Amino acid sequence: MPLESQDYQEIREAVRALCARFPNDYWRAKDRDRAYPSEFVAALTEAGYLAALIPEAYGGSGLPLAAAAAILEEIQASGGNGAACHAQMYTMGTVLRHGSAAQRERYLPEIASGALRLQAFGVTEPTSGTDTLSLRTTAVREGDNYRVNGQKVWTSRAEHSDLMLLLARTTPKDEVARKGEGLSVFLVDLRAAVGEGVTIRPLRTMMNHATTEVFFDDLLVPAENLIGEEGQGFRYILDGMNAERILIAAECLGDARWFLDKACAYAKERQVFGRPIGQNQGIQFPLARAYSQLQAARLMVAEAYRLYDGGERCGEQANLAKLLAADASWAAGEACLQTHGGYGFAEEFDVERKYREARLYQVAPISTNLILSYLSEHVLGLPRSY
Ligand SMILES: Cc1cc2nc3c(=O)[nH]c(=O)nc-3n(C[C@H](O)[C@H](O)[C@H](O)COP(=O)(O)OP(=O)(O)OC[C@H]3O[C@@H](n4cnc5c(N)ncnc54)[C@H](O)[C@@H]3O)c2cc1C
Repeated sequence: MPLESQDYQEIREAVRALCARFPNDYWRAKDRDRAYPSEFVAALTEAGYLAALIPEAYGGSGLPLAAAAAILEEIQASGGNGAACHAQMYTMGTVLRHGSAAQRERYLPEIASGALRLQAFGVTEPTSGTDTLSLRTTAVREGDNYRVNGQKVWTSRAEHSDLMLLLARTTPKDEVARKGEGLSVFLVDLRAAVGEGVTIRPLRTMMNHATTEVFFDDLLVPAENLIGEEGQGFRYILDGMNAERILIAAECLGDARWFLDKACAYAKERQVFGRPIGQNQGIQFPLARAYSQLQAARLMVAEAYRLYDGGERCGEQANLAKLLAADASWAAGEACLQTHGGYGFAEEFDVERKYREARLYQVAPISTNLILSYLSEHVLGLPRSY
């Protein structure tokens, strides 16, 4: 079985050709400087890939999630990092599914053309973390506006985005009829807001991720920027999470492929004790095991997008896909680093960069523990732990 998936071959080849213009030394230099890969994101946007999921009526390609997964998998497998822009693929789904006709008309064509960037997704907060329902950022209605106060953390790409999808509390937690109510989603126009109620501070992290802290200090957001119904925002965000998990899982498949390609090539070429290191089973077996994890994860990712694209329930499969693919990429990363010995730590081999990047997916956008908890309680029917 080949390392890469066989569906959407034309798209995969075109994405590979685009990525070839951004080789490893491009990503290495961006990583070293913690710089945003603007040229790469511009090229992807121009080629229409970031608008893959936007319907044709709004200027996108109207492709299924399976095609978006193929695009992101190929970016990672080429040595690049789709995290610079992947969020736009799934955040626009909230506007598409829950926005009004006027909001869809106003924003989606410009997002599809690249004139507007919807890269920032403000959910996580410093005090609430994974417990989203305890978030503290408030949006209080005042006439034609909402007044927003609070703070987000880990808001990736906020400095490189025109719009932010923001989740804020509009009804105090102790006044809602049902636990999941009282949160609302807004489209915040960052171009107008920065310096006028919004402050963005970059957060330096172990990999190049353009992530930030965002502070809201009496920011006025026009009421017309509320998405859907007030108080129903948590449901809208949950709605987009299956797509997010499936797409991130596809990225993990791409990372696992990159690690295995790189490790196998090195294992055949590197001679120690007068023979290739790849002749040793101590080198072979971790690679073979990671390969088996990759192929199993691939089947689950394919099953998850098949259900998603067919409009069927896919919570279990999306979570399994994310869990298995993130584990496969991490196993492949470990095996790749170990295969390279000391050279795995050298910047010029790119292994350490990809290794740092792949580690994120054990924690974000949802941590492994929270997926296991979902499977325990919602699939296996075990008692709730929180
Ligand atoms: C680089 C990066 C980019 C990110 N980008 C974004 C973004 O663009 N937008 C956004 O909104 N968020 C973003 N995030 C946030 C990310 O989604 C969170 O970090 C993640 O959901 C975990 O939340 P936390 O960091 O607050 O961890 P916590 O919630 O504090 O959890 C810490 C640890 O405890 C475990 N834990 C917590 N509760 C339980 C439990 N009940 N059972 C078992 N284990 C538990 C978790 O699994 C985790 O391992 C990003 C994070 C990073 C690191």
